[in-house]
Amino acid sequence: MLFIRVTLQAWRDEVLESLKRGGPVCQHAAQYILDNNVEIGFARQSTSARWTLREKIELNPKLYSLETEPDSPKLLGTTTHEATHLEQGAALALSVEGEVGGWKAEYSARAELGDPITDSHWRAVALTPDFPTDQDLRRARSEMLEMAGWGYLIWLLPLRPNFWTRLVGRIQRVISGKRSRA
Ligand SMILES: [Zn+2]
Repeated sequence: MLFIRVTLQAWRDEVLESLKRGGPVCQHAAQYILDNNVEIGFARQSTSARWTLREKIELNPKLYSLETEPDSPKLLGTTTHEATHLEQGAALALSVEGEVGGWKAEYSARAELGDPITDSHWRAVALTPDFPTDQDLRRARSEMLEMAGWGYLIWLLPLRPNFWTRLVGRIQRVISGKRSRA
């Protein structure tokens, strides 16, 4: 057990070192993970990775393991995506606006790492303006659904943070012991 923990820690360190060798988006994700002691682990799920209210990043063990090269662009892109959601906080992360931010960050990270995402739907999402209108968000959501299918639960999320996602955000801050953000 101790051996596994040491190995996971060493692997996480290498993942973060690899992110630091990327461009600004990768480096920003690495810094967030370091500054907030975000754990990286593995958990069964239907997606490739997810963030938790305890501020952990959990990778799908069917896709990633300690055998995965720590400089794998897919791994680093997905890690950047989830780190973006943790930095957003649950209130924003549980909205279409937050999800667009995650897809944009992953898209930029992969470009920085020399392994750009070529999917046309993803490119369309990545072109969403930084301060999107509702129309921009609806367009991005339909591109995401085109790519990921209805099994991707984006259609359940509000376009922007609302009462319920803010409530989850408050619960997340309690669970993670973080101070309230503006
Ligand atoms: Zn996401």
